[in-house]
Amino acid sequence: MDRIAIVGGGPGGLMLARLLQLRGVSPVVLERDAHAGERPQGGSLDLHGETGQRAMRLAGLEAEFAAAARPEDQGDRLYDVDGSLLFDRDEPGDDRPEIDRTLLRQILLDALTPGTVRWGHRVVAIAPTGGGHEVIGEGWRERFDVVVGADGAWSRVRPLLGDAAPAYEGVTLVELGFEVERHPAIDALTGSGKLFAVGDNRVLITQRNGLGHIRGYAGLRLGEADARRWQALSPEALRAALREVFAGWAPALKAIFETGTFIAVRPLYALPIGHRWASRPGLTLLGDAAHLMSPFSGEGVNLALADAVDLAEALTSGSGWRAVTDYEEAMAARAAIAAAGAAQGLDGAFSSEGAGPVLEHYRARVSGS
Ligand SMILES: Cc1cc2nc3c(=O)[nH]c(=O)nc-3n(C[C@H](O)[C@H](O)[C@H](O)COP(=O)(O)OP(=O)(O)OC[C@H]3O[C@@H](n4cnc5c(N)ncnc54)[C@H](O)[C@@H]3O)c2cc1C
Repeated sequence: MDRIAIVGGGPGGLMLARLLQLRGVSPVVLERDAHAGERPQGGSLDLHGETGQRAMRLAGLEAEFAAAARPEDQGDRLYDVDGSLLFDRDEPGDDRPEIDRTLLRQILLDALTPGTVRWGHRVVAIAPTGGGHEVIGEGWRERFDVVVGADGAWSRVRPLLGDAAPAYEGVTLVELGFEVERHPAIDALTGSGKLFAVGDNRVLITQRNGLGHIRGYAGLRLGEADARRWQALSPEALRAALREVFAGWAPALKAIFETGTFIAVRPLYALPIGHRWASRPGLTLLGDAAHLMSPFSGEGVNLALADAVDLAEALTSGSGWRAVTDYEEAMAARAAIAAAGAAQGLDGAFSSEGAGPVLEHYRARVSGS
């Protein structure tokens, strides 16, 4: 039986490990975090029927997902910069239940055979060796027949397959956190799901999470060097910078960055749309490592989970590497569509036309066109 290493214990890598174990294969997951709680895992994700939810079903984790998901939090609100409400759909429209990222990771971790994830195993290099690859960390190295890069945006596996690298998209999100109990005004403004306030090339967003939390984002077009500089600013300096960017916006909306707790400054990066590579036996990619895109498609985690389903099938099909090559082709084609959507979503949200394009998008979704 091939020895399989999955580099990265995010949603994609853990789902692949679970599905392989259901098929009698015992992979190793190499994860740089020291333990599951080392880093906040980020906000809420919605799982789509034919990708994310299907993967949970095939992994035998439908009940666990249903118990942790929040189908009631799928509303959408759109505000203009003066605070007027342009669109309000507070009832769940699509079948896309939300789940907190930390809970999703925990469900997947709990489903794995104990010891599958090797915590504190940051991979620093990978080198071909005797028909396989040696995976190298700080103070350890081990040979595997198959290495899967599920290690996200800055994958250590991807450079072995080609030169493509993520490029800055010109947009940065400043992430903020709120406890509902302490922020009744933000709670009322947000409604039952997500709030978007859209102006000239800038947006304010809030999104309901579980456990009485709301996450917010202030987004703007910013040069890459400035984005790096913003990452080093104090909360006071960041707030002052945002006050300038959002001057003239309604005070009720500005309360998002005036009252929230700063979590991170996130410049958005993406791989080229349609990224693919010449297949190389023993090495492959899934999820963000293969097709990093801006979150404006809402597809990232769904694609990572769907990739895991298809790759688990390919690796256990008995058809050799040909099946993995087929997986890579189908995955790249599927991701290219989502990546084009993400680029379009980003341009629609950050445009000089303000809220118009986003309003059009919401109306089209409601009418099903
Ligand atoms: C602000 C923001 C909001 C988002 N919102 C949404 C959304 O609403 N819906 C949606 O579908 N998607 C969203 N996404 C995208 C989504 O988070 C990703 O697409 C998804 O997490 C990809 O999963 P993954 O398993 O491929 O990679 P990741 O989740 O990035 O996991 C990679 C794992 O690899 C580990 N790792 C990295 N390098 C190494 C190394 N060298 N050695 C060992 N381990 C390593 C990391 O610690 C991590 O655990 C959002 C992203 C951002 C930034």
